[in-house]
Amino acid sequence: SIRPLVAGNWKMNGVKADLAIAAEAAKGYDAALKAAVDLAICPPATMLYPMTAALIGSRIATGGQDCSTQAAGAFTGEIAAAMLADAGASFAIVGHSERRTLHGETNATVKAKAQAAQTALLVPIICVGETRDEREAGKALAVVKKQLRGSIPEGATAATLVVAYEPVWAIGTGLTPTAADVAEMHEAIRADLSRLLGKAAAAGVRLLYGGSVKPSNAVELMNVAHVDGALVGGASLKAEDFLAIVRAC
Ligand code: 13P
Repeated sequence: SIRPLVAGNWKMNGVKADLAIAAEAAKGYDAALKAAVDLAICPPATMLYPMTAALIGSRIATGGQDCSTQAAGAFTGEIAAAMLADAGASFAIVGHSERRTLHGETNATVKAKAQAAQTALLVPIICVGETRDEREAGKALAVVKKQLRGSIPEGATAATLVVAYEPVWAIGTGLTPTAADVAEMHEAIRADLSRLLGKAAAAGVRLLYGGSVKPSNAVELMNVAHVDGALVGGASLKAEDFLAIVRAC
């Protein structure tokens, strides 16, 4: 079976003082949890280097929240995937819905970013998910399928790709899909990945669920078939809640 991954997305939260949260998470990531679940924290880029340094020996990985499509050059404000790697990152979230909506990222952009991450030997965590209107119109599966087809680099393998299903309407709202809806979506994502990458590669790709994951719903969500971990926003800013979610895997 697939080894689950729980990744915390701190979004635009976190300064030096918040390294204490990561240290507390490291303290609670005991031998039993290490044996069962992978952990990552994706802080703001400014915190990647100090956080990676603070987590040495903890086996908690770090990741960026975005990366440039470009390798280097005159792109003011952008951060290259190789720079994230240089700062200690192992992962890069790409195509988060906040990037897709607030920064106009298309599937083609997301794919280029995922490729840039892979070139820098980072594992992209590619985010997909439908809006409330799309779900209510019965289009959730079709929307996500289109995002997958447009965003996933060719030749990706289980070792070079993580996919996160994050329904936009569940992010930061306290709302979550039913276990049955998550099961239907994750099964469809696995099937689409089989068509895109081949059955063997697709079988090992970790499919995370994200959107209002918290200790009170984590057991139910993490036990859904084809859910191989979580991408956690708000609850990852509290070590105790983050660890409770890890224990639910
Ligand atoms: P919340 O867990 O705060 O809903 O955020 C989810 C998310 O967007 C993680 O990437």
